[in-house]
Amino acid sequence: MKRLLILASKLGYQTRSFAEAERALGLDVVFATDRCHQLEDPWSDGAIAVQFEHPQSAAERIVEAARERPIAGLIALGDRPTVAAAHVAKSLGLRYNAPEAVENCRSKLSQREVLRGAGLLVPRFFAFQSSEPLDDVLPRVEFPCVVKPVRLAASQGVIRANNAAEFRAAVQRIGKLIASPEIQVAREGELSTLLVENYIPGAEVALEGLLDRGGLRVLAIFDKPDPLEGPFFEETIYVTPSRLSAGSQRQIEDCAAAAIRALGLEHGPVHAEFRVNKSGVWVLEAAPRPIGGLCSRALRFGPRRIPLEELLVRHAMNLQGCELEREPQASGVMMIPVPQSGTLERVEGIEAASSTPGIVEILITARLHDFIAAWPEGSSYLGFIFSRAATPAEAEAALREAHRRLRFTIVTGLPVEHPVTRRISNSA
Ligand code: ADP
Repeated sequence: MKRLLILASKLGYQTRSFAEAERALGLDVVFATDRCHQLEDPWSDGAIAVQFEHPQSAAERIVEAARERPIAGLIALGDRPTVAAAHVAKSLGLRYNAPEAVENCRSKLSQREVLRGAGLLVPRFFAFQSSEPLDDVLPRVEFPCVVKPVRLAASQGVIRANNAAEFRAAVQRIGKLIASPEIQVAREGELSTLLVENYIPGAEVALEGLLDRGGLRVLAIFDKPDPLEGPFFEETIYVTPSRLSAGSQRQIEDCAAAAIRALGLEHGPVHAEFRVNKSGVWVLEAAPRPIGGLCSRALRFGPRRIPLEELLVRHAMNLQGCELEREPQASGVMMIPVPQSGTLERVEGIEAASSTPGIVEILITARLHDFIAAWPEGSSYLGFIFSRAATPAEAEAALREAHRRLRFTIVTGLPVEHPVTRRISNSA
């Protein structure tokens, strides 16, 4: 039986979708994860326990395990496992990305440097240490700016500042976030390095792609129709196909291809974000991974409407079917925003929201009676709403109407020690 390796730092919805795809294709799967103590699954016995913050030794361990259970292809989910995946691929001669290429993407700073070096449109930026006196940093900052930790994801700790006072407050707030036990426990490097860059106005899009030996196939371009102007940047609505002109979409695809080439990415899924304005297409980021968590459910392919996960498994295992096109219908997903930090006590209106025309599924992923953090400290949404319709405008309108019918009761105020955030991110 052919075996696929999945490297993931959490086992949740997305890994389960992959396991289902494996089963549908009659393949075997082995997981490598650094969350083995959290296995809540009946389906993956024998996961390989690794520490992704030590990618070389994680890779050695996986290669060792592969002697007894040979691996024919691999997929890395999320940002953390990509470096270990690249080392495994190199040792076993599997198609993936080179370690240097994934390292380029792991830090927001190194990615900016590589893309600027290649002549792509990126905001002006510089990095500083959160411990540096801000009087030394401020003279170099141009406003409006965006300040962010170089190693977090899902817009966690990303803050816009329009003047010096807002900048000071933002740096202080990020400092508190990165010092929190929930962030420290992930043992990321470079946690105290912050990136400050010019704020780029414009329409934002996300591109989902599949690389095959260096060639980019665009699976979908998502518009983000809500203005993302800060001060915080939690995602909300994604809708595909894009309503931008064919010319703009071609420019986005060209920009994505150039960014991917500059970073050295070659094989497997890629997710990238851009802003488009009068000056052209600006790269916000590119990552060698599929769209996160549940958002992938917005994408289905071919006449059987197979999920993205099955398409990616087929590609990783060199099977037919990975060339299937996305379905013609418009599709949307709303990552349900967290209006304020607090304890989620009640969710009402799910039935009414689900019966909105065009809505195909609503999933509330936040747990009742648990603390949930709003952005910029947060990184998990209340849940997800999915729609399908004849046009992108209808898909978007359905999401807005369904969201209007939902009511979340979040209780704040008790002066008890809350965790700053839950580390389990479920964003795009
Ligand atoms: P993450 O990888 O954590 O999502 P990003 O750097 O992609 O971090 O930033 C998250 C979001 O913040 C972006 O999708 C965008 O909406 C906003 N953002 C980040 N940097 C800029 C910038 N320089 N100009 C305008 N918006 C930005």
